[in-house]
Amino acid sequence: MKTALITGASRGIGRAVARELAHQGWAVGINYLNRTDKARELVEELTAAGCHAAMFQADVADSAAVAEMVRKLGETFSPVELVVNNAGVSGQGLFQDTTDEMWDRYLAVNLSGARNTVKAALPHMISEKRGCIVNISSIWGQRGASCEVAYSCTKAGIIALTRSLAMELAPSGIRVNCVAPGVINTDMVQVLGQETVEELIRETPLGRLGTPEDIAYAVAFFASERAGFITGQVLTADGGFIV
Ligand code: NAP
Repeated sequence: MKTALITGASRGIGRAVARELAHQGWAVGINYLNRTDKARELVEELTAAGCHAAMFQADVADSAAVAEMVRKLGETFSPVELVVNNAGVSGQGLFQDTTDEMWDRYLAVNLSGARNTVKAALPHMISEKRGCIVNISSIWGQRGASCEVAYSCTKAGIIALTRSLAMELAPSGIRVNCVAPGVINTDMVQVLGQETVEELIRETPLGRLGTPEDIAYAVAFFASERAGFITGQVLTADGGFIV
């Protein structure tokens, strides 16, 4: 049984990724920050379906907490072979109104969070010469976004992290790839309000919001043996938004 850690898996995209991987036979570690209820609900759902799942509360920005989570997940199932860096925070506002605290928090969760999980999982992957990392960026890390400067910087950083790590870890047999979602129907998008959501749908050539499952399938592909010769890539899944 192979073990995957999915950060931010209590809700939204991470939840769909955990569900998809669990049904493909991975033992899944469901990381979350606040929503114990949602994480528990998912563990119960997956366990009832005959899958292996366990939940771990940890702030991905806290490297010690992440290291402890990776250790415990390894003990619960087996050492982590797949990391999906999905946990993220976003928010809208002018660049001038972004406080030092907000700037630091976006970077700490969205970018350092990914660094923390990879750092914790790497020793085992390197010693086994096997492993896979899938990072979740955003189209706003590929293209600029007004009023989301801090968020866009973190998501562009995730792409640089993906490509650089892919180069560094290839000799160790570890693949690193990235999915860049467009506008996906989760809490993160619903907070924008109905009018903005409808505008975003109009801007999406395929004429709909993406579903969390649309992203989960892309992540599962990168995680699979079928992507065995693919590393350092960014797959945009956005209904044509930034073509
Ligand atoms: P979401 O619905 O807001 O869910 C966020 C998830 O991340 C929750 O499970 C949350 O846990 C967890 N989380 C937040 N901060 C955390 C922290 N510090 N430590 C651990 N877990 C934390 O978001 P989403 O839309 O699914 O987005 C998931 C990822 O996709 C993010 O990286 C986001 O930037 C990216 N993305 C989303 C979209 C979109 O349109 N939705 C587009 C492009 C990229 P709790 O439930 O415990 O709070």
